[in-house]
Amino acid sequence: LARAVPQASALYPYVPGKPIEVLLREKGLSHAVKLASNENPYGPSPKAVEAIRKAAGEVHRYPDGDAGALKAAIAAFHQLPADRIIVGNGSNEVLELIIRTFAGPGDEVVYSWRGFIVYALAAQAAGATGVAVPEADGLTHDLQAMAQAVNEKTKVVCIANPNNPTGTLLDLTSLQGFLDLLPRDVVVILDEAYYEFVADELGDSLTTLTHPGLVVSRTFSKAYGLAGCRIGYAVADAAIAALINRFREPFNVSLPAQAAAIAALADGEWVRARVADTLVERDRMEAVLQQLQVYGGHSHGNFVLLRHAGSRQIAASLEDRGIIPRPLAGYGMADYLRISVGTAAENDAFIAAMQDILAAME
Ligand code: PMP
Repeated sequence: LARAVPQASALYPYVPGKPIEVLLREKGLSHAVKLASNENPYGPSPKAVEAIRKAAGEVHRYPDGDAGALKAAIAAFHQLPADRIIVGNGSNEVLELIIRTFAGPGDEVVYSWRGFIVYALAAQAAGATGVAVPEADGLTHDLQAMAQAVNEKTKVVCIANPNNPTGTLLDLTSLQGFLDLLPRDVVVILDEAYYEFVADELGDSLTTLTHPGLVVSRTFSKAYGLAGCRIGYAVADAAIAALINRFREPFNVSLPAQAAAIAALADGEWVRARVADTLVERDRMEAVLQQLQVYGGHSHGNFVLLRHAGSRQIAASLEDRGIIPRPLAGYGMADYLRISVGTAAENDAFIAAMQDILAAME
């Protein structure tokens, strides 16, 4: 089998956050808090939930294969033509589609070493060569080195901003400076999965940045609270979007997901309020991590970074107490745990557990 599919057997799998049910089973607990996947702990807008309920009555029908109404809603939201939008089954699928469209055997895909793991997996799956560029000062993308890594074989460059898992943010001036260093025909994926959490601080990348091959991806999984529905999208030049759409399977976004995303997008007030709640809680958690002397640096996403030489032991102890963190050893950050910002009550539970665990470790 390995000989028949050498590409597949060489792939290392994506390891998602441990599901709550798995921890409950493993530990024999009745209650657990998952802070491992940067989900929105408040859930989506009630209007999106209502749209999913309504869509339930239609699920014997195929969805609109081209997601016309959803693309129109996204286009109107960004005041762009709909032919610039690509939708996918989560932004993961969109990222994979972009890489598969532009890179294949003999091509290179450049990304930051501590960038989102899916870039490496998608490059590998496409048969392209992934080029991981180390960060500058430990955690921030080294844009200079990334630009230097681009050569005539480079077809795609991937940058997440803010980055997961490091939480670092680059400003638009630095990003434009980087884009100006690249050949015009290189496709640049600017992955803005966490955009809503930095919108005020960063500004509007879609109207500010210019590069012919720029593709900006966003998701409904984080601020919009629809991770379980799987919907993401990207905005590109119309000619690039048309190419990517040729690789897209029809019906790739389910009928309830299309309905939910349209309703969620229309309820901006709800999203802004939940983002504000999350940022207040994130700052509170970072202050506590500093007090506890386990602060891993400022995060611009809906997660915080804990740093401690005994992070493995802390992760195990958190799980014993029904709290699921995300270890970052797979990113070469063995001392770190990534903790999603939960509701105030969930964060309180995390903080109480940490105080306990650290006291026991002394
Ligand atoms: N990009 C980044 C940087 C992420 O952290 C994630 C989710 N963890 C995604 C993309 C993919 O999210 P989704 O497929 O749910 O849109």
